[in-house]
Amino acid sequence: MRKTKDPLKEKKELALKVIELLKEEYPSSDCTLTYDRDQAWKLLVSVRLAAQCTDARVNVVVEDLYKEFPDVEALANAEVSEIERLVRPCGLGNSKARDISACMKMLRDQYHGKVPDTMEELLKLPGVGRKSANLVLGDVYGKPAIVTDTHCIRLSNRIGLVDDVKEPGKVEKELWKIIPPKEGNALCHRLVDHGRAVCSARTKPACEKCCLKEICKKRI
Ligand code: SF4
Repeated sequence: MRKTKDPLKEKKELALKVIELLKEEYPSSDCTLTYDRDQAWKLLVSVRLAAQCTDARVNVVVEDLYKEFPDVEALANAEVSEIERLVRPCGLGNSKARDISACMKMLRDQYHGKVPDTMEELLKLPGVGRKSANLVLGDVYGKPAIVTDTHCIRLSNRIGLVDDVKEPGKVEKELWKIIPPKEGNALCHRLVDHGRAVCSARTKPACEKCCLKEICKKRI
């Protein structure tokens, strides 16, 4: 009698191959938001500004923001309207400014200006969801993390790592089942690079020149 394949085992094998091939293709993928590793609060600011905005624009906007408000204390003390004036080019200025202000106040008042290093505490910060929290845990603290941004969700579905799962929290949960914890963070950065370079949402994916073409399920 033929053995039926274990779907979870198959996905784990697929994930390992994807990890290996993307490592070869993008050996130095990293976060494209610029910040100093010893100033993790800047990553929180940038990731909030990056909602519906490009990382490139955020990187320019924060330069002006930090000229006026160079640390947690200064941003926490700033008027929301002052923050909004500076972050407006990123869009959604008012809600982003309010979140940044409230987040910096909480960092100042409850964490001595330091960004916490647990998911539970990060999620208490205004404007910080699981995606941002995972980014901080992985990039700043080197902890296991899976950042389910738009590229991660699109590519995970197309490649076949998940099956028609679009909700970020569910994608994260499914990926945790098949990706070795220490590989998650770097894999997500590589998926972003691959999504931008080859497997775009805006244009037809360039499957013919894709390093994953032999293993991808091509659910386009
Ligand atoms: S083979 Fe095609 S669908 Fe699959 S990851 Fe590559 S570009 Fe995307």
